[in-house]
Amino acid sequence: MKKYVYNFNEGKKEMKHLLGGKGANLAEMTNLGLSVPPGFTITTEACIDFYDQNEEISEEMMNEIKEHVGKVEEQLGKKFADKDQPLLFSVRSGAVVSMPGMMDTILNLGLNDETVQGLARSTNNERFAYDSYRRFIQMFSDVAMGISKSRFDLILDSKKEEKGYKEDPELTAEDLKEIIKGYKEIYLEEKREEFPQDPMKQLYLAVKAVFSSWNNARAFTYRNLNGIPHNLGTAVNVQSMVFGNMGNDSGTGVAFSRNPADGENRIFGEFLMNAQGEDVVAGIRTPKSIDELKQVMPAIYEEFISSAKKLENHYRDMQDIEFTIQNEKLYFLQTRNGKRTAKAAINVAVDLVEEGLISKEEAVLRIESAQLDNILHPNFDEKALKSAEKIAKGLPASPGAASGKVYFTAEAVVEAQGRGEACILVRQETSPEDIEGMNSAEGILTARGGMTSHAAVVARGMGKCCVAGCQEIRVDEAAKVLKYGNKTLKEGDVISLNGSTGEVYLGDIKKVNAELTGNFKKLMGYIDEIKRLGVRTNADTPKDAKTAVDFGAEGIGLCRTEHMFFNEDRIPKVRRMILAKSVEMREKALAELLPHQREDFAGIYEAMGERPVTVRLLDPPLHEFLPTTKADIETLAGSMGVSFEELKDVVDSLHEVNPMLGHRGCRLAVTYPEIYRMQARAIMEAAIEVSSKHEYDLVPEIMVPLIGSEKELKFVKDHIVDEIEQVFEEQSTKLTYKVGTMIEIPRAAITADEIANEAEFFSFGTNDLTQMGFGFSRDDAGKFLGEYENNEILEVSPFEAIDQKGIGKLMKMAVELGKSTRPDIHLGICGEHGGEPSSVEFCHKIGLDYVSCSPYRVPIAKLAAAQAVIKEKMEG
Ligand code: PEP
Ligand code: MG
Repeated sequence: MKKYVYNFNEGKKEMKHLLGGKGANLAEMTNLGLSVPPGFTITTEACIDFYDQNEEISEEMMNEIKEHVGKVEEQLGKKFADKDQPLLFSVRSGAVVSMPGMMDTILNLGLNDETVQGLARSTNNERFAYDSYRRFIQMFSDVAMGISKSRFDLILDSKKEEKGYKEDPELTAEDLKEIIKGYKEIYLEEKREEFPQDPMKQLYLAVKAVFSSWNNARAFTYRNLNGIPHNLGTAVNVQSMVFGNMGNDSGTGVAFSRNPADGENRIFGEFLMNAQGEDVVAGIRTPKSIDELKQVMPAIYEEFISSAKKLENHYRDMQDIEFTIQNEKLYFLQTRNGKRTAKAAINVAVDLVEEGLISKEEAVLRIESAQLDNILHPNFDEKALKSAEKIAKGLPASPGAASGKVYFTAEAVVEAQGRGEACILVRQETSPEDIEGMNSAEGILTARGGMTSHAAVVARGMGKCCVAGCQEIRVDEAAKVLKYGNKTLKEGDVISLNGSTGEVYLGDIKKVNAELTGNFKKLMGYIDEIKRLGVRTNADTPKDAKTAVDFGAEGIGLCRTEHMFFNEDRIPKVRRMILAKSVEMREKALAELLPHQREDFAGIYEAMGERPVTVRLLDPPLHEFLPTTKADIETLAGSMGVSFEELKDVVDSLHEVNPMLGHRGCRLAVTYPEIYRMQARAIMEAAIEVSSKHEYDLVPEIMVPLIGSEKELKFVKDHIVDEIEQVFEEQSTKLTYKVGTMIEIPRAAITADEIANEAEFFSFGTNDLTQMGFGFSRDDAGKFLGEYENNEILEVSPFEAIDQKGIGKLMKMAVELGKSTRPDIHLGICGEHGGEPSSVEFCHKIGLDYVSCSPYRVPIAKLAAAQAVIKEKMEG
């Protein structure tokens, strides 16, 4: 027989898969000796079986639940449904992977018309008892029975209005009794039966509701956004209630063992006296800083601090802890590894290494590539910020800088983002329904809520800039306006947010790149120690090369030369070269281009120092350079001394039906070898010049694009070598150099053993290899690939992550064949995939020497390369 239910003292943290994150940690805390209110966890397996059995809880499962209720009764010496001293439960979801706010919770379960009186007597607090009952009816009706919360709010609000109250605590026990009567009427009206009075029936319905909430729309979206499988199921935690709202010697709070915004090693959190957990998280009342607890309850504060440290040391990571104080006794309700910003993730990981708590490998494994990506993102330019108009200040809930048009609903943001607009989601407070809008927004601004409100927690997890609890603004979501002072902003107006300071500005503000010092540098140091793959960059200007070196690039893996030809003073020369009627005319135009190219390459060599640089010779179809307008053709004809008609004929003759498969890449050099000769000369002359200036020997790497056969490469290479030998003779000097090829045509991968006879290195051009391997046009596939993903024909676009089964197989084959001919052949990748984590891991596995990617992705590629080594070690 399957065991569906575990008492907290039967589990441990390693049982996350069965007990969910929350359940496993409740068990672990219980076993650590912290004071955890007793309870039990119904497993994720039970949830999966629930779905297998047409969403029914089997009798067998229910019996086991009842048995465990009995055990908790024994532990506490209290009885569920007892008329005098009722045992009450909270019922919460707890998935394997934390999904904050995505599923449902019910508190105070077990209250009914009779037990509420017992609770009132035993606590000597009638108001508290009826307030708990009121909350229970509302939550149960909403969560388990799907009755809208707003119907209940209406009754509560009209009672407050009738009595002239401002705040909920002003409601008396008598008021609450009347409210409860109204609540029960709503229940009867909606469900056509009385509010359930049998606590066991309440429990049955609540567990069922939590299981069902696994598949609610927002949980489904959250899993899609975070790549969490849909078949894991959720566990249900049933825990005896403790009350933070039992008076002024009670309270509740949420705290992190370190600051989740910047990682500072200092307890960070919030609490509210005389409140229940939902009050803190929902952001309805603004909570106090945990530091103030020291004055309110010094002993409890000390106990909390030492327990938090104990938990952190035990889990060896920053903890996010929920606690409740009931009549001056501290209880722990949850601990988990805290969600944190990218900055905090790096600071905490490096600090934990330096504190001796974790290894460098563990630190590196804990950083997600998306977090690194986030830290590389820009901040506001200090100068621009000075002249910006600040309109309000809220809480710095999640750092970063964002500008965009104001929208007041998640749907409006999703729509506007679809139109290509940058948006800021502005809400009174966010709720889990807003998840897609938050994901589509550049940043989030809320008028209410604290640092642990829904908006704050979710934004930090997403790495999105967020300003929360901004009380200086007033948001009217229905009228779609935001007011500050006596001014009003409407939908579509632009604002900027600084999530690190909480400041809100009018209009767009220029942004600058993040500083990559301190712990970021240390982390990159660990990464460099661990990784095996080299990480180069794709850059074709000295400026990009410099940026990439600052990000840690170890060389250039792809310097595309075509971009160098597009500027104003070169394009006429390029055009004369292409349209030349004789070799002599072409050579003359090329001679004019030579000094420009030499200067380009010298600039790049200077920027890269002694680091390796692979220069790729001209690749795109010639017609891309040609004039298209009548005026341009006329001007060019004039400068070439030919007629308009003559030149127009040549231009037309260069038109291709399918240019990507046409006269491009090395094919240009088969027809016009002098082009590659000029480029080879420029590379070598620049290398000699820079080498002699700095007294080191550069080793130029010359790369031929679009090779499909050995003979093709040999033909082109002979010209390159011949030209270079001439340069050496002219200058009476020599440099070591390499000639290699891109592997981007399937035939090249399949005949890589032959190609390696000529090529000293291979660089996988996975953009073209994917294009030609799948037969998907790079430029047009966007039109249909979305449907491939929607219909699960492809998991992700193969232009984003390497298709390991197919294109990857070609790569693997080429690696093996290439090495069979030339064991020391140097291997890299320069397609866009070189900066995508799963592709980098694949490149590590098939034994490439390096990956090359755009400058901003260099740290991400490095992280993935180090993680690949660690994972490999762990696997075996
Ligand atoms: C490639 O095809 O992967 C490549 C790097 O070359 P390009 O993108 O310039 O065609
Ligand atoms: Mg290519």
